Amino acid sequence: MLKPSDLAVFGGRPTASHAWPPWPEFNVEVFDRVSNALRSGRWAVSGPFTGERSLDACFGETFAKFVGTKWCLPIDHGSSAIVAALMALRIGPGDEVIVPGLTWVACASAVLRVGAIPILVDIDADTLCLRPDAVQAAITAKTAGILVVHLFSAMAEMDEMRRIAASHGLALIEDAAQAHGATWRGLGAGSLGDVGTFSMQQSKVLTSGEGGAVVTSDPALYRALEQIRGDGRRYVTYAPTAGYPDLEGIGEIQGCNMHLSEIQSALLLAGLDRLPSQNSIRSRAAQLLDNKLSQIDGVHIIKPYPENTGRTYYCYVVRIDTSRFESRSVDIIARALSAELGAWVQPLPMPLDANPLYQPHTHWSARLHGHAARLEPARFDLREAHRQAAQGIVFHHSMLLAPDDHVLTIVEAVNKVMEYASLLPAKIDDGSRSW
Ligand SMILES: *Cc1c(COP(=O)(O)O)cnc(C)c1O
Repeated sequence: MLKPSDLAVFGGRPTASHAWPPWPEFNVEVFDRVSNALRSGRWAVSGPFTGERSLDACFGETFAKFVGTKWCLPIDHGSSAIVAALMALRIGPGDEVIVPGLTWVACASAVLRVGAIPILVDIDADTLCLRPDAVQAAITAKTAGILVVHLFSAMAEMDEMRRIAASHGLALIEDAAQAHGATWRGLGAGSLGDVGTFSMQQSKVLTSGEGGAVVTSDPALYRALEQIRGDGRRYVTYAPTAGYPDLEGIGEIQGCNMHLSEIQSALLLAGLDRLPSQNSIRSRAAQLLDNKLSQIDGVHIIKPYPENTGRTYYCYVVRIDTSRFESRSVDIIARALSAELGAWVQPLPMPLDANPLYQPHTHWSARLHGHAARLEPARFDLREAHRQAAQGIVFHHSMLLAPDDHVLTIVEAVNKVMEYASLLPAKIDDGSRSW
């Protein structure tokens, strides 16, 4: 007889008894790099030159090589990176920017921050990324750009995004906040649009707690981005003198301060050393899960495009037929899985037209002439995003860094929750869907 008290969510014995790998993690080398940064006397790229290049510039150069662009500028947040990209591309009030209907809210709020209109566009069921035909259909005379996002573990159809952007003369911004190291036909995520943006916030696979970066190979965009993130300054073009700043003001374009600190750049340099090996550990674990979970009737794995030659995992996602779970909602199933695994398992985020974090009418730009109606989220058709949000379960990438036998407890937990689904409550009333 199945009884509720067998389920961890009701106090029963959890499926997993191990601890999951911590995230973020660090070792002695990370410590050394940070303490060297502290001792250097230079904590900011805007501080005086010490005789050594700033860690900001070192990280920028190393990360640009990693992504495959000419340049990279570290920036304080992934959200700022998107704002800086939009500013460099001269996208502003009244312009429309295509944004996926299912993504982290910052993608849409960054568009609001420059006074532009986020046009929420539906997603592809296999990858959860923007659907090319829906992008095409959303283009109007006011469209200025496409903000394409590689969500969780799959890249968007970049050949199509590039073709559509080129044929309509649109800017293409590639938000690779969840795809550090992913590749499309061997080219790095972030290198395929006009500007690529990254987040290095705590949850991401490369992190300095808070942080981000913009990458580009376009000299004019680079020149603008340098000044946008640096209050109108850029790296000096002459040999710097110790004791004097190695940023010079040129003021061709209005900027603000979006610099990352040298301490954060030290963390990123250390993290980047370890990223390729961590990415391959996560990929192997994800393949193991794909093999096992796809054998369970009612569980579906993400199916990337074949051109997505290198996958990375910010999160591991499965879709479930809730009918196989006694029609319990993904919120309830995710909670039961969290308890079984002793880890934070979440449902997919709510599509932006129904996401409580997306409130464009409260933003100053809603007061611009005619904007209120254009910002109305209810006017967008996000049917597939809603269908997916009702089926998707998300596991954080740190779980994929665990040994195989620990990773496989995810499969056991899914099977157990499926078996016991009838004992789960039909609904939770605290309204606490997390994001
Ligand atoms: C995390 C994230 C951002 C925002 O980055 P922050 O560093 O939190 O500002 C933007 N886009 C996507 C897809 C993200 O996952």
